[in-house]
Amino acid sequence: MEKNTAANEENSKLKILLVDDEDRFRESLGQQLSNRGFKVYQKSNGEDAIKIVRHKNPQVVILDQKMPGMDGIETLKELKKINLLLVDDEEQFLQSMSTRLGVRDFNVIAVNRGEKAIDAARNNPVDIALVDLKMPGIDGDETLKALKNEHKWMEVVILTGHGSVDSAVECTKSGAYLYLQKPCELDQLLDVLKDVYKKRVMNRKDIEEKKLNELMKISQSSSPRDMLRKLQEIDEG
Ligand SMILES: [Mg+2]
Repeated sequence: MEKNTAANEENSKLKILLVDDEDRFRESLGQQLSNRGFKVYQKSNGEDAIKIVRHKNPQVVILDQKMPGMDGIETLKELKKINLLLVDDEEQFLQSMSTRLGVRDFNVIAVNRGEKAIDAARNNPVDIALVDLKMPGIDGDETLKALKNEHKWMEVVILTGHGSVDSAVECTKSGAYLYLQKPCELDQLLDVLKDVYKKRVMNRKDIEEKKLNELMKISQSSSPRDMLRKLQEIDEG
């Protein structure tokens, strides 16, 4: 029981990632921040920073500009990539698409089953999921429902072959942004992804506004600790 409370407390902390190659500076700042109740991750280079961002999804990243290897600007560029989950049982399509999208500012996670997609989305930040309708195991529609259920702000685009347009239309009723017929041109796909991402950003802006209002309410009455906890609740909503 006691363990659980400690774990909950650990989970409710705001997560900050400190990235700096100067160990003494980083460690001292890290210590000060964790004394103040933040969960602090420390990394000395950009490559490790990117891994931890994708794994732990911190709310704040403090980034040194000058570092050996990947510098702060390159790291930031990498961190700003759109996180795309690509789900398709056709290996060749999966590989060629992820390569082509990877060179166009997407961070692609490619998996060949719906089950794996649900798992991947639990462990990685995902902005947009691109999901094939017909797959062995759980199909695109089931995958879509599970993803939307667990991550309500994730946008999902369904990929469909000829002859399954009716089912694809059904998917838009289950919350898919739209469906796209395969084979599709890369330019057409990029165009769709651009629109979907815009929607995602608008949604987030909407959340920000709600957050701000919520914050105003909290800040009038709560202790800093309660505030931090509520802030994180808002962030996850
Ligand atoms: Mg398929």
